[in-house]
Amino acid sequence: MIKDFEYLAPKTLKDALTLLDKYKDEDHKVIAGGQSLLVLMRQGLVAPQYLIDIKGISELSYIKSDAKEGLKIGALTTHRAVEKSPVMKNGYSVLSEMEKRLASVQTRNWGTIGGNICHGDPAGDPAPVLIALNATLKVAGLKAERTVPAEDFTLDYFETALEPGELLVEIQVPSPRPRTGTAYSKFNIIESDMATVSAAVSVTLKSDNKTCDDVRIVLGAAAPTPRRAKKAEAVLRGKEVTDSLLKEAGNVASTEAEPLSDIAASAEYRQELVKVMVARIGREALARAKKA
Ligand SMILES: Cc1cc2nc3c(=O)[nH]c(=O)nc-3n(C[C@H](O)[C@H](O)[C@H](O)COP(=O)(O)OP(=O)(O)OC[C@H]3O[C@@H](n4cnc5c(N)ncnc54)[C@H](O)[C@@H]3O)c2cc1C
Repeated sequence: MIKDFEYLAPKTLKDALTLLDKYKDEDHKVIAGGQSLLVLMRQGLVAPQYLIDIKGISELSYIKSDAKEGLKIGALTTHRAVEKSPVMKNGYSVLSEMEKRLASVQTRNWGTIGGNICHGDPAGDPAPVLIALNATLKVAGLKAERTVPAEDFTLDYFETALEPGELLVEIQVPSPRPRTGTAYSKFNIIESDMATVSAAVSVTLKSDNKTCDDVRIVLGAAAPTPRRAKKAEAVLRGKEVTDSLLKEAGNVASTEAEPLSDIAASAEYRQELVKVMVARIGREALARAKKA
């Protein structure tokens, strides 16, 4: 049963930040789509005295893109809006593909991409993709704004770099460089469920369209936070990317994973999944880079 709370529903970012500042020393929680938070509240794991509902702040729901500034997504944009946005066709289709496999349509209609990231679940789908795309997160407090690289935002299981009084306001994704391909997939037993293991890979090729100029390999559900497999990236960087090199990168990535055993899979099984998925998704990213 959910314990009683005082419900506050600001309609502007300024009002929300003012309320957050006012209640920062009280037991409070921000709610956006509620698709993660309400589960915790129903289980009695979270029982805030003040619930600050930010879903009605329309100024934080938008998707914009241009060649210079790249892609900008307001934190309160729903998963479904990201999935369906024609803007994703301008080099960000991996975001749309990722969203299509996140939960059910009903959950995607309510849940927000910002709420998902702020929840800090290492199995969440958006974070690995955003890290592969080299995204930055804009965070606002009453007195100042700052940006945090997406890869530094999740600090531990369900713990993020947000300070008391701060809200995530925008996701910023740079325009993809020429000859860049990005792919993502998750392994899960029930379709649209959370990942057992996921991986996102972004490859940028040199002008010969064969040699890897840059690469990002990001693992999900394989460590306390979404994690770049930097040793695996080093296997590919500066070399001609072949199937056997991708296999080697997968093997190295599995040594960088730090998975848990749980009801979905053992740690050993997850490590095996990392090997297979990094090679497979790396192949897809490479194929896309060659055509980009
Ligand atoms: C049945 C089901 C299946 C699911 N399957 C998947 C799945 O396959 N993959 C996946 O990744 N997720 C999945 N989820 C999780 C879920 O969809 C997301 O985590 C959810 O969309 C979070 O967004 P929200 O807006 O609902 O956040 P909320 O639940 O409202 O908030 C989540 C957390 O973020 C904080 N928060 C929210 N917005 C902000 C903000 N702008 N600034 C600061 N803090 C903020 C809240 O205080 C809270 O701690 C599933 C959920 C359900 C119910």
